[in-house]
Amino acid sequence: MKLIFERSVPGHGTEYLPPCDVEEVALPPHLRRAAPPKLPQLSESEVSRHYTQLSKQVYGVNCGFYPLGSCTMKYNPRIDEEMAALPGFTNIHPLAPGYTTEGCREVLDLAEKLLCPITGMDAMTFQPAAGAHGEFTGVLLIKRYHDARGDHQRTKIIVPDSAHGTNPATAAMCGYQVVNIPSAPNGCVDLDALKAVLGADTAGLMLTNPNTVGIFDENILQITQLVHEAGGLCYYDGANLNAIMGVARPGDMGFDCVHLNLHKTFATPHGGGGPGAGAVGCKAHLARFLPKSALMDGQDDHLQVRSFHGNFLVVVKALTYILTLGREGIPAAARGAVLNANYLMRQIRGFQPAFDRICMHEFVLDLSRFKKETGVSALDVAKSLIDRGMHPPTMYFPMIVHEALMLEPTETESRQTLDEVAQVYGELYDLAHQDPDYMHGAPHNAPIGRPDEVRAARDPVVRQKL
Ligand SMILES: *Cc1c(COP(=O)(O)O)cnc(C)c1O
Repeated sequence: MKLIFERSVPGHGTEYLPPCDVEEVALPPHLRRAAPPKLPQLSESEVSRHYTQLSKQVYGVNCGFYPLGSCTMKYNPRIDEEMAALPGFTNIHPLAPGYTTEGCREVLDLAEKLLCPITGMDAMTFQPAAGAHGEFTGVLLIKRYHDARGDHQRTKIIVPDSAHGTNPATAAMCGYQVVNIPSAPNGCVDLDALKAVLGADTAGLMLTNPNTVGIFDENILQITQLVHEAGGLCYYDGANLNAIMGVARPGDMGFDCVHLNLHKTFATPHGGGGPGAGAVGCKAHLARFLPKSALMDGQDDHLQVRSFHGNFLVVVKALTYILTLGREGIPAAARGAVLNANYLMRQIRGFQPAFDRICMHEFVLDLSRFKKETGVSALDVAKSLIDRGMHPPTMYFPMIVHEALMLEPTETESRQTLDEVAQVYGELYDLAHQDPDYMHGAPHNAPIGRPDEVRAARDPVVRQKL
């Protein structure tokens, strides 16, 4: 596709401005450009066509199936966006006098009041701007708790190998030594491995649940009990709360703190780099360490992890979503997410699940045997899906499964869509056995085929030399 600068034709444009009816005043020479700016010259219709064409190169949940595992790419009801666009919420400033922002305070208070019982926590902050940022905040609460008790020997955080990659990164960022423990063959935490590393130096454990292979840890009560007996605290990575919300609560499972990705489960789209909110909830014994906005009457040494109150409009969307779904809708959404994942896992023919058991909101396919048989990799399958008009699933993650494809259909897909998806996966399974070379060359119908992903990430070229 041509750049808008390449479409430019000298003299094209739109004469919207009325003739100047005030006296012209010349700028002083030192403030004037030496040459006119190189702006593209196009008519209104040319501009409109250019941007419409550009928008068609984007793939989102409004275009079709988007099962990006661990990212919860679901359809978010428009009403959430409409509420967040109300001028009363958008035309405010954090430094405005308190009496003019009472409604906004109420949004934050009510969201906390509703999310605490959903998670089984006693208090919550909306300051962190992302899931990983929420983890960072939560682990700092754990650190402050031990510090306040003068318990300085606790230098280690335990992280199972089925955790989201941000968990060990967070623990390291907070200055802890990360102790990795393996999973048992059933995909859950290996209890013996956990017992072997627990001790007086354990600050806590971070558990992603459901874990990155989509499994709810069946020993979860025992895990939190063991950690507490060793004097550590338990952190629940609840980024994917849509698997359990309204059905089970981290607080009841023995966790001391939790973060939620409001920008996955609660109505703000994930991905695309937009603003997020990694809300952090905690039990009463950690509540005094929670971040406070400098505007609130906190102590001088209060924790602040972001300016003011965080990404406020994301909280408006989450609140709208919770109020719209209500007491029945929240658990129904969770059940739908789990049902859809299990249904799709069973409908897909040929490809093998990494763990052949009931999953939560997502599941992982293990294509290593398939690759040995056909030479076709998980990457080839992902690229072939693009030709079928579908967004590929998450690939090569989690790292504990080789040739992984990780699918999260989400609760907002219909049975008809899931049947179509299963059909396409089945067709690709057959195609791999018949014409593997065709799949090595996929995608055949996309504007971009196989970019050098390492260079694109490490050395992105985002400027066009004109
Ligand atoms: C997405 C995700 C995160 C990180 O969230 P970000 O907002 O991308 O920082 C952490 N843990 C789990 C389990 C996730 O799925």
